[in-house]
Amino acid sequence: MGRLDGKVIVLSAAAQGIGRAAAIAFAKEGALVTATDINGEKLKELDGIPGIKTRVVDVYGHSVGKDQVDVLVEEHDYVDVLFNVAGFVHHGSILDCDEADWDFTMNVNVRSMYLMSKAFLPKMLAKKSGNIINMSSVASSIKGVVNRCVYSTSKAAVIGLTKSIAADFIEQGIRCNCICPETVDTPSLRARIQAQPDPEQAFKDFMARQKTGRMCTAEEVAYLCVYLASDKSAYVTGTEHIIDGGWRL
Ligand code: NAD
Repeated sequence: MGRLDGKVIVLSAAAQGIGRAAAIAFAKEGALVTATDINGEKLKELDGIPGIKTRVVDVYGHSVGKDQVDVLVEEHDYVDVLFNVAGFVHHGSILDCDEADWDFTMNVNVRSMYLMSKAFLPKMLAKKSGNIINMSSVASSIKGVVNRCVYSTSKAAVIGLTKSIAADFIEQGIRCNCICPETVDTPSLRARIQAQPDPEQAFKDFMARQKTGRMCTAEEVAYLCVYLASDKSAYVTGTEHIIDGGWRL
């Protein structure tokens, strides 16, 4: 018996990092997972894992993105859990963030969750049962972080969206939570370190702020995702779930 036996779960950004680890963990617990991502090549690595089917979906928020989301919704009679993972990290303060950076980040990080949640909610409401999990971050309304201006703004908006959905639909059997990790060792984190002028120093700087002496793993975040997706968390809604190795202490 798995903790998610028979649950239909759709998630975005499943080709790598936290989304991929969560897709695999959900399937291991017996869920029927639709793993989506914009990167079709990388997504193929999940093909063949029992319980996982893959779909290329761009949640960016253009009309193309919205069309793809609508197709995804039509493919499912119902969805028990929607996990909105897709996010982009812009590096810099407000002075480094031009309007295109602002719009792109807000669209990928927030508008995508608005589109996906709005599209899947009617089927959840029809079943009087649904569970939405959004990926936020400690860099948000929780903690001010250097050079994460628009990213933190977008992740604070995710917390607001989460609480709003939780409050509006609690009486209709819907719950909504978000996850707020700190530094998680994922391919995009490694790429961001490599993109710095001195990658070795940038890595040391990242490690210097880790109170546990290490980064969080994607699998550790996935364990929390399994809990939130499962009925064990049935009484949990409208809450930010911080997984930061004591970073705020
Ligand atoms: P990642 O950045 O390594 O991978 C992101 C995935 O999203 C990729 O597979 C990419 O192809 C996909 N993607 C990008 N744009 C997309 C789009 N428009 N439509 C669909 N898919 C798209 O992932 P990660 O580091 O595991 O981060 C996942 C989430 O967790 C993000 O929301 C991120 O902000 C959040 N987060 C990450 C960390 C961290 O340290 N890694 C910390 C806190 C929060």
